[in-house]
Amino acid sequence: MKFCHVFFIHVSLCDNPLKMITFAPCMNKFLEYLSDFWFLLFPKNCEACGRALSRGEEVLCFDCLYELPRTHYCKELDNPILQLFDGRIRVEKATALFSFQKGSKFRKLLHSLKYRHKPEIGVLLGKELGAEMLASGNFSDIDYIIPVPLHPNREKKRGYNQSERIASGISAVTKIPVLTGVLVRNTDTKTQTKMNKDERWQNVSGKFVLTDSEVLKDKHVLLVDDVLTTGATTESCGTALLSVDGLRLSIAVLARA
Ligand SMILES: [Zn+2]
Repeated sequence: MKFCHVFFIHVSLCDNPLKMITFAPCMNKFLEYLSDFWFLLFPKNCEACGRALSRGEEVLCFDCLYELPRTHYCKELDNPILQLFDGRIRVEKATALFSFQKGSKFRKLLHSLKYRHKPEIGVLLGKELGAEMLASGNFSDIDYIIPVPLHPNREKKRGYNQSERIASGISAVTKIPVLTGVLVRNTDTKTQTKMNKDERWQNVSGKFVLTDSEVLKDKHVLLVDDVLTTGATTESCGTALLSVDGLRLSIAVLARA
């Protein structure tokens, strides 16, 4: 009865519940068999290349995880992400986990995160980004992680905020808390996919507001988004955040389009 209880709890928490259970050594072999059986019953494929995942792999196969076109900007602070905001807003540090070109398998990955109900992609890539930030030692003084908010209507329709999923992955590795509900989007803006730079800025300018400035006073905040295109959304969020006394702003995204 107790086993069933743990089992069902983990069904909701993990792709493969059996691997989270720790038993006496004599049970380990038995659980390995059960775990293999679980994979046979519920096979999963790599979200980037489509190959069947092996035990120990989650969301992406190890090959794709290794092949991610990483930028290593966490170590290289004078990078194109930081330069994008030159003369626009005051950004202390900025980074992107990887770069991608049109048609690449990693572009498909980001599309799935946003439009195919795959929040686990955001968490996994957030953890990868968090691990690079931690290893670089350059982001150790961040007080809060703030995901770029979606309008409540958009979030309800999608089922989650992809930036919040990325933020939770970064937080799981760095242990920096995620702060939501302080920066909010007050208008449901149009999708920006086909807009040029000026149209994007018109679409998001002044659309983000703070519900509580006091909590952010003198804090170093990491603003997190999925993909950076012209930087209009990030700039609009940053403008709202930088209205707080003593706030320092850094930026982290999964990729630069
Ligand atoms: Zn793969």
